[in-house]
Amino acid sequence: MTIKDHNWSRRKFLKTAGIAGVGSVMAPMAGLVNASGKNKTVPNRPFGKTDEQVSILSLGGIFDTGSNQLMLRQAVNWGVTYWDTAHSYGSGRSEKGIGKYFAKYPQDRKKIFLVTKSGAWSIKGMTRELNKSLERMHTDYIDLFFVHGIRSISAMDDDIKAWGEQAKKEGKIRFFGFSTHSNMEECLLEGARLGWIDGIMMTYNYRLMHSDDMRRAVDACVKAGIGLTAMKTQGGGQIRTDSETELKLAGRFLQKGFTDAQAKLKAVWKNTNIASICSQMPNMTILMSNVAAALDKTQLSARDTSLLQQYAKETRSAYCTGCTAICESCVEGEAPIGDVMRYLMYCNSYDDYKLAADGFKKIPQKIRTRLTRLDYSMAERKCPQGLPIQRLMQEAKKK
Ligand code: SF4
Repeated sequence: MTIKDHNWSRRKFLKTAGIAGVGSVMAPMAGLVNASGKNKTVPNRPFGKTDEQVSILSLGGIFDTGSNQLMLRQAVNWGVTYWDTAHSYGSGRSEKGIGKYFAKYPQDRKKIFLVTKSGAWSIKGMTRELNKSLERMHTDYIDLFFVHGIRSISAMDDDIKAWGEQAKKEGKIRFFGFSTHSNMEECLLEGARLGWIDGIMMTYNYRLMHSDDMRRAVDACVKAGIGLTAMKTQGGGQIRTDSETELKLAGRFLQKGFTDAQAKLKAVWKNTNIASICSQMPNMTILMSNVAAALDKTQLSARDTSLLQQYAKETRSAYCTGCTAICESCVEGEAPIGDVMRYLMYCNSYDDYKLAADGFKKIPQKIRTRLTRLDYSMAERKCPQGLPIQRLMQEAKKK
């Protein structure tokens, strides 16, 4: 084996460990059961002012839940009882799979803190989608209902507020809020001022959590009693990175007994104001790895945290922070830059081409066709991350 081959092998092993999550290797199965052979369960945290305790690990439902019933069962056994889905996930297959599970194990419904979302953007549409979600999941209530993927707090207007109050009165939902991948800091800060938001799910990770704006936004939500769920916690970028710092980091964490993917979860859990991490866990390996990380009491050291921050800094220009208010207004014509960046991340960082393609195809044909003809030069000048937006739009369309 040449030095080059050896480096490649090491690189491949560390990357594979980080991405696929070999938590079951690093934290053996024995760590997932107690002395009497029973499954350990992941810890809970309070969810804002709701009086609910939720598992710190939430099962993200963008996968074929219908064909993975055993995984749902095992998630319950390990206490992963916060389940997240959406009306749109898998064109309804995610909710139907959860419904199949509840039809078989109706006694588990009351154990689950069930979250779904609607991106219908109209009162009529939200009512239709909520009713459909209830029907698909064989349940008569949703624990927490989100308006899906807001970009600005203006989406949460008085009509939406009244809709949420009515749905609560009818017993169809218990709590109400929104999810956001764009302009998260503003959405959180202004959401905290509304006084009627129970929960928020937002993009939040080791790259974003240390900025003053994000800290202020999270503090405001905590003061307002809003339960917070972090998503996209791996901080995967639109551009693949393979820096030496990344490899060193992965090696350092492996020596400590966990993978870099597990370390990135730990970085978020370190902030006890975050009630739960929503993670896509489409297979048992990732579920085991994440459960092992949630059960493991080893904390990241100050040095670990600063190395993660250093890595985030070095790979800054590979990661879109979702500040779409900055770039999208710089382009003549409609360009959903933030959405396209997210789909590119699914493709390049998650290696989930189907998820990326499904999202991309939802952009109206007319906008997709024009996407690569627009001029992004001013958006690129204003982008705080220095992303090559024009090139990435072309890459997304090509892929
Ligand atoms: S492309 Fe740049 S400006 Fe636009 S959302 Fe991403 S990081 Fe922000």
